[in-house]
Amino acid sequence: MALYTDTVMDHFMHPRNVGEIADADGVGEVGNAKCGDIMKMYLKIKNNVIEDAKFETFGCGSAIASSSMATEMVKGKTVDEALAVTNRQVVDALGGLPAHKLHCSVLAEESIKAAVRDYYDKNGIAYDRSGFPDCESCEGCHMV
Ligand SMILES: [Zn+2]
Repeated sequence: MALYTDTVMDHFMHPRNVGEIADADGVGEVGNAKCGDIMKMYLKIKNNVIEDAKFETFGCGSAIASSSMATEMVKGKTVDEALAVTNRQVVDALGGLPAHKLHCSVLAEESIKAAVRDYYDKNGIAYDRSGFPDCESCEGCHMV
């Protein structure tokens, strides 16, 4: 059996929504030490809806495929819906990832949350901090 599904390979070879949004409303950058992946997520948010999402990822194929899929999944969603996207949903949408690569998809979920948190901070919107990754005590990733 191939290590990566066709969907993973497709998003890795032809990632969607690559680049930056110069006037993004929220930017989140996360990384993990295991693969050296760094993922930067840009969100354009209007009336609480994510109008556009782009990413820049430096890292392994799984991280690139996960962030590509994640941007596709959050576009058109409300902020709350985007926050509810889990790395498991990203993995399922990709048709699965090898077990030792699952941590790369976690970055996709965390980069969305980090970008939304940035949006909340910039706009003075109150939020529940417990709903966001506590990266100071997490070994798998760190805010950069
Ligand atoms: Zn990785």
